[in-house]
Amino acid sequence: MTRGVAVFGATGSIGCSTLAVLAAHPDQFRLEVISAHDNMDRLLDILKTHQPKHVVLTNPEHWETAKTHRHRFPQVIFHAGMSCLNELAQSPDVDIVVAGIVGAAGLRSTMAAVTAGKQVLLANKEALVMAGSFVMREAQRTGARILPLDSEHNAIFQCLPKGYQTGESIQGLEQLILTCSGGPFRTLDASALKTVTPAMACQHPNWSMGAKISIDSATLMNKGLELIEACHLFAVQPAQVDVVVHPQSIIHSMVAFCDGSILAQLGAADMRIPIAYSLGYPTRLAIDVPRLNWRDLRELQFEIPRHADFPAIEMARAAYESGADRPLVLNAANEMAVAAFLNGAIGFQQIMTIVAECLNRLPRQPISVVEDMILRDADVRALAKSLVEASICS
Ligand code: NDP
Ligand code: MG
Repeated sequence: MTRGVAVFGATGSIGCSTLAVLAAHPDQFRLEVISAHDNMDRLLDILKTHQPKHVVLTNPEHWETAKTHRHRFPQVIFHAGMSCLNELAQSPDVDIVVAGIVGAAGLRSTMAAVTAGKQVLLANKEALVMAGSFVMREAQRTGARILPLDSEHNAIFQCLPKGYQTGESIQGLEQLILTCSGGPFRTLDASALKTVTPAMACQHPNWSMGAKISIDSATLMNKGLELIEACHLFAVQPAQVDVVVHPQSIIHSMVAFCDGSILAQLGAADMRIPIAYSLGYPTRLAIDVPRLNWRDLRELQFEIPRHADFPAIEMARAAYESGADRPLVLNAANEMAVAAFLNGAIGFQQIMTIVAECLNRLPRQPISVVEDMILRDADVRALAKSLVEASICS
């Protein structure tokens, strides 16, 4: 019996790593659905080597281009528009959904998979930051099993007893310790941060990832988002989550228990490892990734994050503690500011200024339904856009 898999965001970094793991185990998985947004070249490459039943172009503007290539892939059914993806998330042929779309754009499709009670392999951390309580409650209602793909949360999950379900409290837990590479500017002088470019910020020392998460790793906002993600996935408060800079990215996170034991998961910095763990769960899948060799491991370093120069972790912690719409505002402002930095409109340090400004200017508002979240998200984006424009003019 094979299991049907839908890969949302198949053209991205997580999507491609997922397709590689699936291709190594054709006896266990069938590729039912993939989605692409703008990267048509990558989509066509994927179709040369993989045979999904359905392809969804979440950006319908590419429908005409797709039409000119459709005859080359007669076995594939093409669809256009995000709503098709949300519908296919609920198909009885889909058992596992890999939520690999980046940013708030992934919220609805992730929710659709959770509402349909699927096994959801979650990379789209922004969905949890925006709407974590909602997503976790819905998973409990429908029986959807959420398995974290983010390497830190996957490491924590691997350290927990078999049978542990995300969203439950962890017996005997003292602390979760998220490791953080420190990003490309870990040792850079604060004064030099003013002049760093998007190309420099995208040069992550250990991981190869999409542009948005690479910038988040450089500002350390990625760790801030992950702190919030951990609170939702493992039912902990921010005070129970510590962050340690570990430049080698060999230990992917740790769990400290009340008896003084600390469990950790180690491995190469390769997303195929957490992806394979979650796809195969509870069985391990063999994959051809670099192995850690203890003979080559000379040093495991640990440092305290430079919070004064990289305020994002503490901003995220405060946003979660403050509750209501604060994490959503943090996330939307950050997405807009990161896009502006990538376009060359603002400098690196202005990313955090814009996030802080949005949090200050928009009053705290409770939000309880997805529609309110979408509206609030749009408000934040409008404000962040005007702040970017004002900073360009000043
Ligand atoms: P990429 O930028 O590489 O890929 C993003 C994917 O989302 C692409 O398939 C892209 O399509 C699609 N996409 C972009 N915008 C939209 C939109 N508006 N609507 C629908 N689809 C869209 O990102 P990553 O793979 O690096 O990251 C994906 C998610 O996984 C993020 O949330 C990230 O934080 C998380 N993550 C990533 C890790 C990594 O190693 N890369 C590690 C841990 C978490 P297209 O390219 O066709 O435009
Ligand atoms: Mg991570």
